[in-house]
Amino acid sequence: MRNKIVAGNWKMNKTLSETEALVTRLSAMLPDTDAEVMVAPTYVNLTGAVRQLEGSAIEVIAQNMHFAENGAYTGEISADMLLEIGIETVIIGHSERRAYFGETDEILAKKVAMALNKGLRVMFCFGEELADRKAGNHFNIVESQLKNALFSLKDSAWQHIVLAYEPVWAIGTGETASPEQAQEMHAFIRKTISEANDASISESVSILYGGSVKPNNAEEIFSKPDVDGGLIGGASLNADDFTAIIKAI
Ligand code: PGA
Repeated sequence: MRNKIVAGNWKMNKTLSETEALVTRLSAMLPDTDAEVMVAPTYVNLTGAVRQLEGSAIEVIAQNMHFAENGAYTGEISADMLLEIGIETVIIGHSERRAYFGETDEILAKKVAMALNKGLRVMFCFGEELADRKAGNHFNIVESQLKNALFSLKDSAWQHIVLAYEPVWAIGTGETASPEQAQEMHAFIRKTISEANDASISESVSILYGGSVKPNNAEEIFSKPDVDGGLIGGASLNADDFTAIIKAI
């Protein structure tokens, strides 16, 4: 049985007071669910959210970290910093980090290695751009993203990895991959993993879908056999919408 997960990526949204208000509403509204529920506030609000959610079923996760252990990297955050404030999971490889902050597969492989080395769980994001899909190149792109960042890991590392397939053309655009497109890619991801690694890994790794998941499409996407949950951007900023999406799983 794979873990079901619904995670909210708040990106560069919500000030401290807004974060506190959203966390308060979410914890009051949290529906009964077998799924793991996670939220990713911006760095400066992580400590506050962790404290506020102590004892709650909602896990606070980080949006990013640096691959170096520490040192002269102005503006960056290390794995140890996250661990000490009670963070156990970090998102790595989000398409916005790749597109706007120059994060290549090579950098991401180093980040994944550092996070795992330190005992963090990694939510690894990847997905093709619109031009790749139009050119029919989406499977190749996804395969190489996985291969470059993850396929040199030891089999035992995979129990600390969650995958999030996020086609870039569906992020923040209101355009969702159809449930069939999501299922097709998730099945391909599992097949690719089973060919390159121990086959049991592909069956046990949770693969989330991300990209314009909303209350009105979540249930259908989550009903697909290889979709184990979602990474939610815009709709996770609103407690009613995010709660509805959690209920859909
Ligand atoms: P979106 O973002 O739900 O706003 O499309 C998803 C993501 O970037 O994780």
